[in-house]
Amino acid sequence: MAIVYNFSAGPAVMPKEVLEKVQRELLSYKNSGMSVMEISHRSSLFADIQKNAEGNLRKLMNIPDEYDVLFLQGGATLQFTMAPMNLAINKKKVDFVDTGHWAQRAIEEARLVDGIEVTQITSGADSKYTSLPEIDDSLQEDADYVHITLNNTIEGTAFKTVPTFKEVPIIGDMSSNILGQRYNVTDFGMIYAGAQKNIGPAGLTVVIIRHDLVEKSPDLPAMLSYKKLVAKNSTLNTPPVFAIYCAGLVFEWLLAQGGVDEMEKRNRKKSQLLYDYLDSSSVFQSPVAIESRSLTNIPFVTDNAELDKQFIALANDNNLVGLKGHRLVGGMRASLYNAFPIEGVEKLITVMEKFELEHKEVD
Ligand SMILES: *Cc1c(COP(=O)(O)O)cnc(C)c1O
Repeated sequence: MAIVYNFSAGPAVMPKEVLEKVQRELLSYKNSGMSVMEISHRSSLFADIQKNAEGNLRKLMNIPDEYDVLFLQGGATLQFTMAPMNLAINKKKVDFVDTGHWAQRAIEEARLVDGIEVTQITSGADSKYTSLPEIDDSLQEDADYVHITLNNTIEGTAFKTVPTFKEVPIIGDMSSNILGQRYNVTDFGMIYAGAQKNIGPAGLTVVIIRHDLVEKSPDLPAMLSYKKLVAKNSTLNTPPVFAIYCAGLVFEWLLAQGGVDEMEKRNRKKSQLLYDYLDSSSVFQSPVAIESRSLTNIPFVTDNAELDKQFIALANDNNLVGLKGHRLVGGMRASLYNAFPIEGVEKLITVMEKFELEHKEVD
């Protein structure tokens, strides 16, 4: 089988070693004679899987004891609703930092929650979201929390440091760079991430939330209530057992590789290689301001939609797949998540150089 480099933004590439382990264990997990998909979520076999996954995630991200870890369903998108329902309860106000598509989706969903005032305190719209908006803590209103999208998967921007907002907790959507660069969990009231980008298979959402926020949340229907989900350790109903098992294997893999700091180092190296090439190319370019650039999602363009199409076709012929840009922004996008090897970036650049030679404007 030819080596395929998968640049998909999500669901995305997983570590090969993890997939091989899944394959080895698929028919008989720990010699039980049963697949991990067939065992009860109340069995000790599964309880251990979940406990180890949580423990390893805590190790990887230095999650303190006063934070709860939840393994939920509904994707990052359900958190756009659950966060305001559970946490916008005193002032009934939420502030948003608008950094593009996913921030906008979070705003839209929060506006549908009854009795909550939603304010966009700053926006990158003026730059068409190619740079992050200025933030200082004077922006923050009297809100229950401020919502930030740490890595903007579609636009290719990311916060390197987390802004501070006086006493107001920050809720961070970390779907596309969780475990890919170092953030301090204690800078946040809550972090959430859909698993299918930088963790594992779709169907799992990780929520990391400070316990005092959980305690204060109101009485809500069980599946929408952080308090009830925490009380039942995420197994209020049947959890996504297979996705949790795979995520657990990815966490083990990450620890064996050297953890988040090592991943950040590799992700910097991979992305810098591509950015350096883009900044020197006469055919391709990055639309994103240098200081706002993401380590995990790298959009790039030629100045011509027809050329973009030709390049994507050439890339596909060279087993470089998933490079088509998001339908909202066009062009190309290379997603370089933790499991994406540097060899794939090198191959991409080789193919881009070849394309550049053929399409350079001759003057
Ligand atoms: C993909 C993505 C989402 C949506 O995730 P789902 O799990 O599909 O709901 C939300 N936020 C960001 C930053 C994303 O990249």
